[in-house]
Amino acid sequence: MRTSIICQECSRINNNWAVFYLDTFRDDGVYFGCCPKGHDNAIATQTLRHEMLFEIGVNAIKDTYYREAISSFAASVERYYEFAIRVICRHSKLADDVLQRSWKSVSRQSERQTGAYIFLYAATFREVAPTLSETMTSLRNDVIHKGILPDKAQAVEFGEASYQVIQNGVQKLRAECLDDVNAELVAQMRKTIEKYGDKFPRSTQVTQTALNIIQDISGGYGPFRQVLSARGIPLP
Ligand SMILES: [Zn+2]
Repeated sequence: MRTSIICQECSRINNNWAVFYLDTFRDDGVYFGCCPKGHDNAIATQTLRHEMLFEIGVNAIKDTYYREAISSFAASVERYYEFAIRVICRHSKLADDVLQRSWKSVSRQSERQTGAYIFLYAATFREVAPTLSETMTSLRNDVIHKGILPDKAQAVEFGEASYQVIQNGVQKLRAECLDDVNAELVAQMRKTIEKYGDKFPRSTQVTQTALNIIQDISGGYGPFRQVLSARGIPLP
């Protein structure tokens, strides 16, 4: 799975119009590499983990790996729950060490994380949190635990459901606590970049993905099927 990385030198030569090259997705979102013209780059992307996983899911549909699509979308929803938990805790001014120690107790079990998300969301926004329906959850379980091979229609349906859970949640987070969303984004970026110390040139880029936390979706978001057709994926 590959992502577009900006080459700073090529872009400078191109009158500062961005020039991209492809690199393999990296777990920490930091890309050290050469563009096809041999310029060295060190770029940190602002892509959040759930955004990266969702992108992998969309590409898996394109490549006709429907089982991988569903497992990537499911992982994306889980990591979105984690992101939301962190934003809501920030919103309630929870001390960082209390959050870290509490997270430790749920970090190995996704069911616990889902429960934490549902109740933090309800207690904060006085609304029921958007989550996957029981039908979608059992499809996920069949695929992940029973080795069921889904077809394209099921992968698209699951992708659409995951997309709506995340976009609805992000819409709420942005509407109610945009400052905390941005603070969490900065904190995650900082954590990534700090690992590389002074050696890192500290340039960053925003990668265009299907989900993008910094995008203003207060007026609504585009349908999932539009995301697929924009990637040239024929709809079932
Ligand atoms: Zn270059």
